[in-house]
Amino acid sequence: MRQAMAAAEVGDDVLGDDPTVQRLEARAAEMLGKDAALYVPSGTMGNAIAVKVWTQEGDEVIVEERSHIYNLEVAHLSMISRVLPRPVPSQRGAMDPERVERAIRKRGLHIPGTSLICLENTHNYWGGAVVPLENFRAIREVADRHGLKVHLDGARIFNAQVASGVPAREFARYVDSVMFCFSKGLGAPIGSILVGPKDFIEEARRVRKLLGGGMRQVGVIAAAALVALETMIDRLADDHRRAKRLAQGLAEIPGIALDPETVETNIVFFDIVAPGWTAPAFVEAMKQHGVLCLAAGPQTIRMVTHKDVDDTDVERAIEAAQRVLRQSPPA
Ligand SMILES: *Cc1c(COP(=O)(O)O)cnc(C)c1O
Repeated sequence: MRQAMAAAEVGDDVLGDDPTVQRLEARAAEMLGKDAALYVPSGTMGNAIAVKVWTQEGDEVIVEERSHIYNLEVAHLSMISRVLPRPVPSQRGAMDPERVERAIRKRGLHIPGTSLICLENTHNYWGGAVVPLENFRAIREVADRHGLKVHLDGARIFNAQVASGVPAREFARYVDSVMFCFSKGLGAPIGSILVGPKDFIEEARRVRKLLGGGMRQVGVIAAAALVALETMIDRLADDHRRAKRLAQGLAEIPGIALDPETVETNIVFFDIVAPGWTAPAFVEAMKQHGVLCLAAGPQTIRMVTHKDVDDTDVERAIEAAQRVLRQSPPA
């Protein structure tokens, strides 16, 4: 990636003439089976742009209760698009289509109308769960009955592809737009992309500029994203296998509550149930052993495998957790 970055041919992407970005956008659109694409600095900006383009101020947007777009993107639905999010619960990221249909509201004297449904796959806060294709099909049917758009936060759509064997473009078939990340598991330093119909992407380009996301000779980083697309997808299977092994090892440790069956991709969530231990204390103690992880709640830990974590590292992490929880908790 660093070599590709150094060698990248560049132009001014705000004017649309950076050849490396053009190649990246064409390739991403082709892979997802959509007309066009727009390179963006972050996944959050990609999602924010999609919501802004698909909605009018005051609309309602259906989001999954634990979704990234609703919980972890600094309220851009309210602050940038000025829409009302309507959260719907789910089974591991798959919202019941009947519940979605009941949540749809028709614009009226007292009522904002629903215009958009947002999906997420894989689902981050459901521990990297793959939302099944069948659920996409069912939600699409509901959306079509009511004339709604569907946006997919596919930050990790290629993890879903590798874990399920369903091509990303199959998931994309049932939605109007997709955002996915070159950072995260695909290992590029920066960047995400939005794909969708031509007129949507044209408008998205204006909104990107509005949000300060128009970048000039950005082929320098798009070159790394191209390497990610061409070479980093199939190896996600290694991350998934290692996450499974990590989960199995951790699940055997007294003081950890974890069902390895729930680990489908590269994310491992578990609870610290050892008396006196909290998630932040566990994170700090693991850091002393050279293992980095995140506290995702008072007792909840999130670990992720990626290309710089090998089999030995996984065993090291399991041993570190064993050693940490054998100690008494910090005062
Ligand atoms: C990381 C992530 C994003 C946002 O990406 P950033 O590049 O960090 O803004 C969006 N959705 C999901 C599910 C993510 O995991």
